[in-house]
Amino acid sequence: MKKYLLIVLLVGFCIGKEQTISDGPYIFIEKNELIEKIIINSRVISKSLKTSSYDTIYQAEKSTFNKIKKIAAISDIHGQYDLLIELLQNNRIIDKSLNWSFGKGHFVIVGDIFDRGDKVNEILWFIYELEVQAKNQGGRVHYLLGNHEYMVLYNDLRYIHEKYDVSSKLLNLEYDELYGDNTIIGRWLRSKSTIIKINDNIFTHGGISKDFITYKNFNIEKINNTMRRSIPRLKELRKLRKEGQSNNFYDMYFGNKSLIWYRGYFEEDMTDTDILSILQLVDANHIVVGHTSNEKVIQLYNNKIIGVDSSIKKGNYGELLIIKSDRFFRATLNGKLIELN
Ligand code: CA
Repeated sequence: MKKYLLIVLLVGFCIGKEQTISDGPYIFIEKNELIEKIIINSRVISKSLKTSSYDTIYQAEKSTFNKIKKIAAISDIHGQYDLLIELLQNNRIIDKSLNWSFGKGHFVIVGDIFDRGDKVNEILWFIYELEVQAKNQGGRVHYLLGNHEYMVLYNDLRYIHEKYDVSSKLLNLEYDELYGDNTIIGRWLRSKSTIIKINDNIFTHGGISKDFITYKNFNIEKINNTMRRSIPRLKELRKLRKEGQSNNFYDMYFGNKSLIWYRGYFEEDMTDTDILSILQLVDANHIVVGHTSNEKVIQLYNNKIIGVDSSIKKGNYGELLIIKSDRFFRATLNGKLIELN
């Protein structure tokens, strides 16, 4: 009998412990104030902040940058905050106090901060602040939207960590409403690009398929604007598509061969000539993508395609890509540079 009671108590303790979460802040924009909600030990603590505490309007950045001397890139972080910090510190993108130390360099996150792991907001707020620091020093952080950012924006919850299910219940909101247009992070996300060009390198989460280029004349600025503008309609577009209605627009920008879902460079039987013809059409020499996981940063087709999803999502290891003087390097977790070839 005593043994039985002990087991019940232990199981109860474990379940109770699992359900106790801390998360946030989520900051909601109201007419004359900001409402900050933080979850501590499963209790929601609300606080009113002055509207001047945060920017509430985020301008879209331009999509092309030239003469940049050093670039770092990473992708598919998926809530692995600790690994991200270790990787950035060991490669001197940030210092011990998490401050920007990459000078005038550009740091590109090629999509997918959201989903899978349980430290998504920690990463979002860290990047939010790093972006300002970088800019003040003549550098830049570019957070590009991947398929998981768009999935959150249209409330596809298949990959969220169970913690966020608890958060949204505690806040009495749908998960996508935590990043709605009336939130600080939500507005910030809606200003982000999906594709950018730095020097002769294009960065985008999945890749550029032939089907995508042939749809319309390739113009990075226009593509970003189109994708940003379609966010309010995404749920509806997706619903129609799921009901079986054909929708060329949705398929092109959010389907399997779109910038955010494409895996062709890794999976299709493509030749060097195929890749060269894509590069010619988009006026670039290299395309840097995430989305398709490998054990490390890899190059394909003689450095024309670089894959930077180094399986950080598993929580054990990860790498950065560093581009300096037109040379491409893997930057390992312990801070070693190894040239790609
Ligand atoms: Ca992805």
